Amino acid sequence: MELRLYDTLSREKRTFVPLDPNNVRMYVCGPTVYDFAHIGNARPVIVFDVLFRLLRHLYGEAHVKYVRNITDVDDKINDRAARDFPGLPLNEAIRKVTEQTGKQFHADVDALGALRPSVEPRATEHIGEMREIIERLVAGDFAYVAEDHVLFSPQAMNAANSTLPRYGALSKRSLDEMIAGARVDVAPYKRDATDFVLWKPSKPGEPSWPSPAGIAAPGRPGWHVECSAMAWKHLGEHFDIHGGGIDLVFPHHENEVAQTCCAFHRERMANYWMHNGFLQVESEKMSKSLGNFVTIHELLADWPGEVLRLNMLKTHYHSPIDWTMKSLEESARTLDDWYRLAADVEPGKPAASVVEPLLDDLNTPLAIAALHGLRNGDVSGLAASLRLLGFLSESAARWEGRKQQASGVDAKEVERLISERTAARARKDFKESDRLRDELAAMGVAIKDSKDGTTWEIAR
Ligand code: AMP
Ligand code: ZN
Repeated sequence: MELRLYDTLSREKRTFVPLDPNNVRMYVCGPTVYDFAHIGNARPVIVFDVLFRLLRHLYGEAHVKYVRNITDVDDKINDRAARDFPGLPLNEAIRKVTEQTGKQFHADVDALGALRPSVEPRATEHIGEMREIIERLVAGDFAYVAEDHVLFSPQAMNAANSTLPRYGALSKRSLDEMIAGARVDVAPYKRDATDFVLWKPSKPGEPSWPSPAGIAAPGRPGWHVECSAMAWKHLGEHFDIHGGGIDLVFPHHENEVAQTCCAFHRERMANYWMHNGFLQVESEKMSKSLGNFVTIHELLADWPGEVLRLNMLKTHYHSPIDWTMKSLEESARTLDDWYRLAADVEPGKPAASVVEPLLDDLNTPLAIAALHGLRNGDVSGLAASLRLLGFLSESAARWEGRKQQASGVDAKEVERLISERTAARARKDFKESDRLRDELAAMGVAIKDSKDGTTWEIAR
């Protein structure tokens, strides 16, 4: 069975052939750490975690390297630091913001059942690599210095007579159209409207490093060059898979390709470009002004992380996803069912019916449908397949216990009411037994009578 992946660059699903099967390499753009991550940010984390797990399944755990960066130098971070810690020197305030946000991000994604990537490089620890790439770009006449900035010129890239890719190829935009459509208020130091920043001067008090390309004033990198530098350092000049959300195709990924390919005279940066679709909430774009902006942290107060994970994977990664309460409730019921059936079962081999759709460009909705098909048959296959997808990290008892805890239901009180109700039924006092059932329902507890007695669960 072979893996096929949809590649944004070639706009087709292609068989995945790693450059080196002993070292399969994937880079995914990580968070800019200035605020709690929202549930949209969880989508690439979960999607590429499934791909990471699948690659490890196919090539062996020791043969897959997954790099997801942490962007800890950015204007948004500086603004947040100045706002939240006005009394502190800016650099200290920035450290506080990035440390707190980074920790919170880890706590969130751990709870979602995402494995930690092999490497999580921080931008501030790779300034040397960024400078080196910038020096190479200036030396190759792909970039120039102007007013203490270094700018990349897409026009110079497309004018170069070589095997370089064409600027605009990834996002299917033509440079001529970009020039024609450029805004009028272009920064005066740019030669062309489409030029983008590789390096810029820092204002006094802002984080700064010695500048490249003979610039005397200290400065800091632009966002795009950060990823080119970190990918180069940890995965090399050319690697297998590069991922992120669909919003990153342009300009971020287009610019990463331009920087890396021009700096290293490469035809390609990554062989497969993968992009997840966007998440919206109750059919609306998520935004602070609409009041439907929801963080992973807030959702985790109400739902186990695996419920959020399943809810995300019910939609194919390429499609937009509509995040609704109704769907979350359904996902919670499904997981309850899987936990009861499979959490304490010795896992066998993942079922072919689950692995096959995953091999077809990560078709998780089909894989989930196949999981439903296993519930009355191969339970050890169900257990193994669920684990492959990052579920069942807890025992059935812990799952049940946590659910009760989260719902604030006192299990002892529930048991007491149930035995009172059993007694009422035994003496045929159905009025009292109905009253007790209603009381339990009001507490959020659903009961089920069978010949073996009464069982209960938290109604969702
Ligand atoms: P950011 O911190 O905005 O750079 O986003 C981090 C990652 O989350 C990127 O891969 C984005 O493409 C992705 N992302 C941001 N918002 C959404 C959304 N609403 N739906 C899906 N992915 C998103
Ligand atoms: Zn990036």
